[in-house]
Amino acid sequence: MKKSKHPETNAIRTQAKRSVHKEHSVPIYATSSFVFDSADEARAVFAEEIDGYQYTRFSNPNNDEFIEKLSMMEGVETGVATASGMAAIFLSLTAHLQAGDHIVVSQSIFGSTHQIITNLLPRWGISHTYVDIDDNDDWEQAVMPQTRLLFVETPSNPSLDLCDLEYLGDLAKRNNLLFVVDNTFATPYLQNPAKFGAHLICHSATKFIDGQGRVLGGAILGPKSIIKDVLPMARQTGASLSPFSSWILSKSLETLAIRMDRHCANALAIAQFLEKSKEVKTVKYPFLPSHPQFDLAKKQMTLGGGLVSFELHGGADRCKNFINNVEMISHTSNLGDSRTSITHPASTTHSKLTSEERERVNITDGLIRLSAGLEHIDDIIIDLQKAIDKSK
Ligand SMILES: *Cc1c(COP(=O)(O)O)cnc(C)c1O
Repeated sequence: MKKSKHPETNAIRTQAKRSVHKEHSVPIYATSSFVFDSADEARAVFAEEIDGYQYTRFSNPNNDEFIEKLSMMEGVETGVATASGMAAIFLSLTAHLQAGDHIVVSQSIFGSTHQIITNLLPRWGISHTYVDIDDNDDWEQAVMPQTRLLFVETPSNPSLDLCDLEYLGDLAKRNNLLFVVDNTFATPYLQNPAKFGAHLICHSATKFIDGQGRVLGGAILGPKSIIKDVLPMARQTGASLSPFSSWILSKSLETLAIRMDRHCANALAIAQFLEKSKEVKTVKYPFLPSHPQFDLAKKQMTLGGGLVSFELHGGADRCKNFINNVEMISHTSNLGDSRTSITHPASTTHSKLTSEERERVNITDGLIRLSAGLEHIDDIIIDLQKAIDKSK
């Protein structure tokens, strides 16, 4: 089929080649290896002289279908499917760095990413500077002669702060740096970092891409010229995604656009509801005019995303009471699920950060991260209102 200019059509209409059975929906290729017709064919496949599958750690039709759809939605050439979002992040960093290199990273990043950068990379001689995600001068001043890479997550988890993608794309270009963006929160439906000069885009597909909290998965996407250095490392270290998970994730991409529309509409309505409540101290949502980076959000995202963060008056105790009093809303560390969920980052996802580190990225002890699900908005608001009242 000819490619459409609409990514959501391509996500639905892109499919692995049909087998002899002419199935409408692609089957799960639950096989660890593939057979060869001849000794010559096997040699040629291994030598990469001809296309062909050999072993699922290297490639599999389900993984290929997932990556073809996702790279089309991101507007890039290709990618690698990984076992989790963290595998994608780890590979996007280590495939291109060596001892003596330095990287510049926004300090508002996912807890496990923070651990890789703070504790693992220095063991291999790779140093870093943490900067304020929204301070362009801070980014600029942190670049040194040995800097090789910029890494950012935007909007950030859980503070929902943004970086200026265009500025960082330009900074990377001027200094010949690799620019890596974790696009998990926005998904390729809301934001395409490659348009602003990002070279590699990482996803935790576990979140909105799956959208129903079923599997772990991830991906690294980018131009062939850069992915070619990630691919051998993914294959050799065994970071590959299982065909079952890529089948789920590929099917999920067919509904990503319509689900994100609802996640974003619910999140905006929740943010507006919280902003009106006298019991609420702060609310952060990229598409609320009160967000300090509202104009930037409008420029680089098409909708505000599915996450809202907020604080109630009364600090950590009130926050705990609130969490203990939700009824329908799930209390869990996952996000991007069809079910609305809340979590307390300071004691869970970001508990490995020191309290000074948390303070610097606005993760207070009273901060709650909410992931808007797909339920009817009235049911979500009723549950929130009840928990706010009972937590007093
Ligand atoms: C969840 C998450 C990750 C890690 O992904 P996993 O699939 O859990 O390994 C990385 N970055 C962000 C922004 C996330 O939300």
